Amino acid sequence: MRTKLIAGNWKMHGSLAGNPALLQSVASGAATLPTVSFAVLVPFPYLAQVQARLSGSACAWGAQDVSDEVRGAFTGEVSAAMLLDFGCRYAVVGHSERRARHGEDDARVAAKALAAVEAGLTPIVCVGETLAEREGGQTLAVVFRQLDAVLERLGVRRMAGTVLAYEPVWAIGTGRSATPDQAQEVHAALRQRVSNADWVVGGGLQILYGGSVKPANALELMRLPDIDGALVGGASLAADDFLGIGRAAALA
Ligand code: PEP
Repeated sequence: MRTKLIAGNWKMHGSLAGNPALLQSVASGAATLPTVSFAVLVPFPYLAQVQARLSGSACAWGAQDVSDEVRGAFTGEVSAAMLLDFGCRYAVVGHSERRARHGEDDARVAAKALAAVEAGLTPIVCVGETLAEREGGQTLAVVFRQLDAVLERLGVRRMAGTVLAYEPVWAIGTGRSATPDQAQEVHAALRQRVSNADWVVGGGLQILYGGSVKPANALELMRLPDIDGALVGGASLAADDFLGIGRAAALA
């Protein structure tokens, strides 16, 4: 059975003064839900603080991006080894906000995923279609294209060291989640795609759903057979909401 992972993407939120209260609440709540895995994905400057506050807790942590380069003249970039220095387990790659704002294409996302895996980090690889692509009947073609780039670059065996996140772009930060049927259809198709290459890797792959997940809709999503947790944006900034999603995952 695949363990459910509830990962909070803080995006560009948080403050040195305000983070400890949220981290403390999340760590104590996570300790009461031992069947669920938790992680927070925080802005780079807070990694040292998060490492100090969460070490030894039931909540892992990570970053929201990672360079595809190992070291060198890459101003502004942060390598996988640097993230490991701060105890990170995860790095998000290919979030739609980075694809859209920073021009990250499928090849770059795949290179980042590879750099993360090679260093010993677990990339959380985001895929998802825009509203226009969904309305144009392109959903599966788009997410398969995004997945295939990573699958080809890593090879199926290394996919076992990744987490996949299906995040329909139209559901991120909009309050409009995918319906359970829409989410399950895409998750099952993604799993089948990986299983076609290696059924053990496909069967074991954690596939998270992301896009306006909150306590009120978490249970119906977490109950679906191919949903193995959630990548949570807005609701990860309030401990009660984040832990409420965790409780739903524990019940599912
Ligand atoms: C996200 O940013 O990955 C996300 C899913 O955001 P939200 O939960 O706010 O839709």
